[in-house]
Amino acid sequence: MAGILFIISAPSGSGKSTLVSQLRTLVEGLDFSISYTTRAPRGSEENGREYYFTTREEFERMVKADDFLEWAEVFGNYYGTAVSALRHAKEQGKDLLLDIDVQGALQVIHKMPQAVSIFILPPSPEVLEKRLKNRSVAEKMTDESVIQKRLAGARGELKQVWEYKYALVNDVLENAVEEMKAIVLYERGEQDSAELAASCRTDAASAKLKAVLEAFQE
Ligand code: ADP
Ligand code: 5GP
Repeated sequence: MAGILFIISAPSGSGKSTLVSQLRTLVEGLDFSISYTTRAPRGSEENGREYYFTTREEFERMVKADDFLEWAEVFGNYYGTAVSALRHAKEQGKDLLLDIDVQGALQVIHKMPQAVSIFILPPSPEVLEKRLKNRSVAEKMTDESVIQKRLAGARGELKQVWEYKYALVNDVLENAVEEMKAIVLYERGEQDSAELAASCRTDAASAKLKAVLEAFQE
């Protein structure tokens, strides 16, 4: 494979799943790592499709056996990326995309500095709250305390944006999808995407990113 490892993180509700699923219809050769988690399946989720659903005991056994490239506790549940996901993508000749939280991303960035890390930001706290509420209505899980916990979590996670190579603000969906596609294609060597990808580098976009971070600290 080109063998590129893409890491994507975002505060919950920023639109990461929406973006990633659109990206996968536009870009070929991108394998999606299926994580292990101890949380229960939601809605129509199936074991082996969205996640491998497992018990805390089994997860802890895998931690001891060094089966994870990274793992973390997120909102009270364990989540982890199996080392075997990397091996599998390599065998298939594909790039691998990890959709993981900030704690896990920092572990991977540290272990594999060549990984391409992308952080997705919501445009503002107001928009994030609206998206979290809309989604919770759609999933019939309208628990205000869960939404408030996720908003508070976002504040902390956003501060880590500078650890990532790229960052994009998911305001207008089509634009964010184009930016994400440009990053992937540029990292694969396509010079046509260089300008758009460069504008998403964390250092190049710092003024825009700082404005979002400030709105979250108010
Ligand atoms: P995440 O995976 O980051 O938790 P989701 O992809 O589930 O977030 O998106 C949260 C909600 O916001 C969903 O209802 C989704 O349809 C909506 N959404 C995502 N991106 C946008 C966007 N750019 N504009 C408006 N709504 C969006
Ligand atoms: P959800 O339960 O909403 O699917 O995911 C909650 C959070 O866990 C998201 O931020 C998601 O990116 C993160 N996550 C999913 N899989 C992994 C993983 O394997 N490792 C880590 N560290 N985080 C993960």
